[in-house]
Order: sequence, then C-alpha cells, then structure tokens
Amino acid sequence: MSLFEEFGLRKEILSAIAEMGFEQPTPIQEETIPYLLIPNADMIGLAQTGTGKTAGFGLPILQQIDFGQKTIQALVLCPTRELCMQITKDMQNFSKYVPEFKIVAVYGGASIQSQIQALRAGVHMVVATPGRAMDLLNRKLLKVQHVRWLVLDEADEMLSMGFKDDLDAILSDTPKEKQTLLFSATMPNEIREIAGKYMHDPVMISVGKKNAGAENVQHEYYVVHAKDRYQALKRVVDLHPLIYGIVFCRTRAETQEVADKLMGEGYNADVLHGDLSQAQRDFVMSRFRQKHLQLLVATDVAARGLDVNDLTHVINYNLPDELDVYIHRSGRTGRAGKTGTSISIIHTREPGKVPQLEKLLSKKFIRKQVPGGMEICEKQLFNLIDKVETVEVNESQIDPFLKGIYSKLSWLERDELIKRFVSVEFNRFLSFYENAPDLNANVHDHKSPDSRDGKSRRDRMRFSRLFINLGTKNDMNPSNLIGLINERTGNKSIQIGKIEMMKKFSFVEVDSRFEREVMGSFRDCTVDGIRVSIELKTSEGPREERLVNFTRPGRKSNRGDQREKRR
Ligand code: AMP
Repeated sequence: MSLFEEFGLRKEILSAIAEMGFEQPTPIQEETIPYLLIPNADMIGLAQTGTGKTAGFGLPILQQIDFGQKTIQALVLCPTRELCMQITKDMQNFSKYVPEFKIVAVYGGASIQSQIQALRAGVHMVVATPGRAMDLLNRKLLKVQHVRWLVLDEADEMLSMGFKDDLDAILSDTPKEKQTLLFSATMPNEIREIAGKYMHDPVMISVGKKNAGAENVQHEYYVVHAKDRYQALKRVVDLHPLIYGIVFCRTRAETQEVADKLMGEGYNADVLHGDLSQAQRDFVMSRFRQKHLQLLVATDVAARGLDVNDLTHVINYNLPDELDVYIHRSGRTGRAGKTGTSISIIHTREPGKVPQLEKLLSKKFIRKQVPGGMEICEKQLFNLIDKVETVEVNESQIDPFLKGIYSKLSWLERDELIKRFVSVEFNRFLSFYENAPDLNANVHDHKSPDSRDGKSRRDRMRFSRLFINLGTKNDMNPSNLIGLINERTGNKSIQIGKIEMMKKFSFVEVDSRFEREVMGSFRDCTVDGIRVSIELKTSEGPREERLVNFTRPGRKSNRGDQREKRR
C-alpha cells in the first residue's frame, strides 16, 4: 500500500496519480496532504517549484470538494499565467476520473469572455493571477463568498511583482471561515505581514530538502571583471557544445541585450522576459521545450512557468541579490534523477556571496578557470569528431553524389582528408580564439592596489552622493546601476563608491570630479519607460539641487545620513 492510499484519497484520484507516475509522496506532500485532509489551522509551506507542492495542496482539496454545491470552494492565486495554466492542468490530471470537478484558470492577456462563460457555468476551483481576479471580482463575476480554501502560490513572487494591493483586496473579500494556505520559496517581511494580517495561527511546513534535484547539482563559478562577463559567458557556452540551459539575467534590458548578442553571433538562443507579448513567450517556450533552442536567456519571473526537467546547465549571468533566488535557479537543473551544473559568472566584488551560498546549500562551490582558446577548441573539435562518428548517413540520398566527390578528392591521402574536413568547422573557432586573452580575474582585483599611505584609494577619494529614481522595483541592482552609469557616460573608469539600493530609488557615490559628467549624462534618459531623475544629495539633509542649478564643488559623502535613506 502506497502512502497515497494510506492518506485515504479517493480511488479515482489514486488511479489518476498512479497513471501520472506518482508512486510515493514527495516530502512536502507527506506533510501537507494529511494536514489538509482534516480540519486544521492555516498553513505556510516553504517550498519551491519542483517539490510537488501543487499536488500537496491540490489532492486534499480535490478530495474534499462538495460536488453538491456549484460554488467556488477553492481559489488559488499565483503570479503568472504560465503557473496558472500549469496548476490548472495538474488539477485536471488529478481529477481525470472525477468528471464532476470543474475548474477554470483566469489570467490576464487572454480573452476574458471565455473565462466569464466558464465562471457563469459554475466551477469549484478558480486558479487566477491577482490582476485578473481583481478585475472579475470588481465586475462581480468572481464570487468568493463560499471559498473554503484560499491558496497563495509563490506568494513571494506575487509580492515582488507588485500584486500586494490586489492581494490585500482579494483576501479581505473572502470569508473569514476558510483555510488559507500560503506557499513561498522565501520568507521576506512582507510575507510575514500578510501571514500576520490574514492567517490564523498558521503552522509552518518546510521541506528540508530545498529542491528535489538539488542533490544532483554541481555548483561552479568563474570570477571575471564585470566588463568581461559576456565574453566569459560565451567561453563557458563554447566549452559545452551540447548545452541545454537557461541563462538567468537580472533585468529585462540585460536579458534582451545578452540574447541579442548571442543570437547575433550565431548561438542557438532566444529570449524570455516580461516585455514580450504572451504569444511571443509561448512561442519561445515551446521552441525551448522542444529543444529547438539550446539556450534560453531569461529573467527569473519569466522563466517561472517553464517546466523543463532535463536542463544540463543553469547559468547565472550574475548572482542574484537574494540567495534564495539562486537556489531556485539552480534547482531547475539536476531534476528527475539527472545531473546538472549551475554555473555563476561573478565579478571581483561578489565572491563573498559564495561562502554564504555554500552554507545555505551545504555544498561546495568549485571555482573554475575561464577556459582559454585552446581548451575550447579542443572541446569543440572532439564534439565534431563525436558527431562524425555517430552521424546517420542517408545512403540513398547521398549516393548519387559520392562518385563525383570521391573522384574530386582522390588526390588526398586519408590523414590529409580528415585534417581538411575537421578544419572546415574548426577554423571558425581557431581564428576566433587566436590570441584570446585570459579572462580570469583575481578575486582581490577590486581592492585598491595603491594603499601606499595606509589609506585605500576609496578613503582618499572624494565622493559625491547622488540620488537616482531607480531601485530594485525597476529591476535594478548595484552592478547594472554601475553598468548604466558606464553606458551613459561612456567612461568606465569613473570610480563608484557605496551604493544603497531601495525599492524605488538608490543612492550612489561617484568620484566627485565626475559628478557633473554623471548627472549630465542622464539628461533625457528613460529606463523601462521611467524618465530617470538624478540629483545631488547634500550631506546636510534631504535638500537637493538639480544639475542645472548646481554650483557647489563636490563634497565628501556622508555615509551615516539616515534621514536621506528614509526619504
Ligand atoms: P510541482 O512542484 O507541483 O510543480 O511539481 C513538480 C513536478 O513533480 C511535476 O511534474 C509533478 O507532476 C511531479 N510530481 C509531483 N508529485 C510527485 C510524486 N509524488 N511523484 C512523482 N512526481 C511528482
């Protein structure tokens, strides 16, 4: 008797999940299914995609739906359309032999009419993105007064996508007498707040194993200067000719830029981020799933709905700010009993994060040297030879040409012939990597080399503190803010000091001598549709002056100015 049977699930459900290949419950299911099958308090599940959490909440809910009532008894809120569809599909599979169960997925970017029709026909479960759920609630088409289970799936992601107000509104509309189940990969304060406000004495269930596949993942990293990141990425990809993986970038702009460059250079890659239309995203994901693409360059959010089990690699184009995001990313490889590699390209200021990740994952990260030209050429050459060995020859199609080909090449010896054949492909790599520089950076490269008088260069330098209206909410992080400044000024040698990054704005210290240059370079600059405003922050307080009025000399930064932080 499997544990699923011991849980007392209906035989129709047992048959369906057996057909899906579920033999034993996953760790999260072992905890959640018995807990949810009897009246109990609310629950917080710390779990990620890939842990089996959908069945963890879906099976016990399905078991307990009152089919005598055609009311919405379960409302599942999740961040993306893809996840919405995936949960709905899973529930449809679980209920294959429970035909009376009715479910609808409602999400934006698709016709609302068919969703309204399904709601009007009567459903037991609604799986919704918060925006569309709000829309339908306002139109009084989504009736939540009989909801018995409210599931918040990937709650951290919903918050980081700005759905807090929608969630607040929806949660306050549902009846008090219900069970709220919140699933989240991370526990930021906002989640604790939501839990405190809308949940009753929730129990916390956490799966010890962060991810079913984590055991099979090898973690590697390369240390390079930020300017060499893209070249390093290419070398890593070239070193793995059979790679099938996702390259994670932090912003949409960076994602697009990296993908454009890769595609422009002939790599079998494409891009996935939120600026694409739904049809474009569906198209790219389907090409990737079918392995028509080797590399998908994606933002974390856009890649959420992509359920691919056999990725060979995950590449972190840069390390995410939140370490949990790294765990989430790396858990996308090494699934379903396969091994995988999570590669991070990190710059000289970042290695401090590696020990933290090692501790969190209880795994050693291996520092690798960015391969040089010869190493890559060798790898590519032997990949070509492998292909030659295994290629299927289409005898009948090629036969008519062979005679002519043999006679044309008859003057060449066997060795010469092999040499020439492989060179046709190999020369491209050879010439590209001829004189390729060493991209490996010393971890300490960023530390001031000239601390002759005992003071670091940073201490001796005068910095100006600038306010900029871009923050983490705009997909910004310190490294791409530096990148933006480099790009706008066209001057990569401007020393950047401390960066404080808030949600909607940041403070950045720049070498005072370049203060005007930096500020001037942001005139008429728009990032992701936001007109960038940059201001000099005085050390005395929150008073600020725009560039046009600016007449003071640069001043020393005031690192302790908390008043400005609270702006
Ligand atoms: P989820 O975390 O719910 O997205 O599930 C990840 C994958 O694991 C999905 O493809 C599920 O169908 C599969 N899965 C969930 N539970 C089990 C189980 N007990 N046995 C085998 N596969 C499972």
